[in-house]
Amino acid sequence: MDLKALYNQIIVENSRASHNRHKVDHATAVLEGVNPSCGDDITLELSVSNGIIKDAGFTGTGCAISQASASMMIDLIMGKTVEEAKQLLRTFYGMIKGEITDDGQLEVLDDIVALQGISHMPGRVKCAVLAWHTLEEALNENNEKPETTE
Ligand code: ZN
Repeated sequence: MDLKALYNQIIVENSRASHNRHKVDHATAVLEGVNPSCGDDITLELSVSNGIIKDAGFTGTGCAISQASASMMIDLIMGKTVEEAKQLLRTFYGMIKGEITDDGQLEVLDDIVALQGISHMPGRVKCAVLAWHTLEEALNENNEKPETTE
């Protein structure tokens, strides 16, 4: 299997994966992202507490790339701090823009390097970045509530 076929397989598998496709209880941020040029429409839900992403999920519809990107992104950010997630965002944007190509630097993105080839497909870039733009807004608008003692 060549690398491109492997990457395609990762995208297809992740677009079918359902473990991140759910609503989040006690979400601190709920944000919809739409990519009209393809018809992708996702809603990202996050539960952030003490600066850590405790839970995340998404619902919506769209092409395999948009759905796989959302699912892989959630796998990656779960349990990370908001600052770590923002750093991952910068690395992802760098990869998609073709500015970061060093394997060592991209290692933190794990399976998401499967989307690296998208940087050469301008029509699909919006599909790949949709979930990430939505995450960026959600992190900036995060209404984290103070911990309550229950
Ligand atoms: Zn799409």
